[in-house]
Amino acid sequence: MKAKEKSLQEIGEFGLISRIRRWVNSSDPALVQGIGDDVAVIDTGLKALLVTTDILIENIHFDLSWTDPYTLGRKSLAVNLSDTASMGGTPKYFLISLGLPKTLPLSFVSSFYRGLKKEAKRYQVELIGGDTSLSQKIVINICLLGEGRKRDLLFRNGARAGDDLFVSGTLGDAALGLKILREKGKIKEARGLVEKHLSPRPKVELGRAIANHHWATAMIDVSDGLLIDTSHLLEESGVGARIWEGMIPLSRPYQKWIRSFSKDPLQLALSGGEDYELLFTAPPRMRNRILSLVRAHKIPITRIGEILPKEEGFLISRKDGKDYSPSRLGFEHFK
Ligand code: ADP
Ligand code: MG
Repeated sequence: MKAKEKSLQEIGEFGLISRIRRWVNSSDPALVQGIGDDVAVIDTGLKALLVTTDILIENIHFDLSWTDPYTLGRKSLAVNLSDTASMGGTPKYFLISLGLPKTLPLSFVSSFYRGLKKEAKRYQVELIGGDTSLSQKIVINICLLGEGRKRDLLFRNGARAGDDLFVSGTLGDAALGLKILREKGKIKEARGLVEKHLSPRPKVELGRAIANHHWATAMIDVSDGLLIDTSHLLEESGVGARIWEGMIPLSRPYQKWIRSFSKDPLQLALSGGEDYELLFTAPPRMRNRILSLVRAHKIPITRIGEILPKEEGFLISRKDGKDYSPSRLGFEHFK
């Protein structure tokens, strides 16, 4: 009898990506980084070319009852900018492909492009093309090109045992904002959290500063949730880590609202997605210099943990000092 075929649900998004990675396995000498980081890096001589792409699908990534086309346009570009930020690169050009239903009003598309242009201007990137097709649901795919000096870029794979682990901003706000939208709708009192979900701010300038100073060893953006994105960084670097729960940066609105929406006050900060903050590692002797970036960039940076040898695994240290290994890390497509 034929063995039962594995489904995507069993292996999950990341199980699938690791198989795809084995199937393609490029040996192009100019390819500094292929599948496995936030962007692909191609050596073009003086500067490296950075390429990244993200897809947003109606009712999976966004819901038209919460967002308007202008805000959606901004966010579509922002999520790609965040991946370039996590390498310390400079975003430059992008292409956008759209799948659109034929009944969609033209004004929807024009507002969407106004949002896209606004975000593009803010980060000085240029729209250079794309593709358009009929689709039952709205599908948005952006491919963003950027550049950076090869020796300045920060990858997921540079963390070493003994390094500090830092995160920018606060965590869980966007996930809590989305939960509030779903359960209560657009309530005015929780506007700040909802805003974080609808209008993420990619940390492009901060990412570039962290990389250009050569203080850090590895970096990733937190898009799927702190635990899962930390686990990607640990896997690529071949190390373990301990995160101190008591150090997780939480905003005031998060602390105020979380208890009405979750029994576990840290759940969304650890496993909710869409923070679009930077998670990075650096040797302890760089600690003060790293923390000095807070003032220049007006973005909090918090030391949330330490990198351990691989054998020690991935641990979370509770406020009572006891360690546990996280079981469910966060959001993953297909699961
Ligand atoms: P991010 O959350 O930073 O966008 P992903 O988890 O989506 O990163 O992707 C991880 C890596 O896998 C990236 O290098 C990405 O380019 C690659 N990847 C994702 N999906 C595919 C696919 N369908 N085919 C080839 N590579 C993929
Ligand atoms: Mg990323």
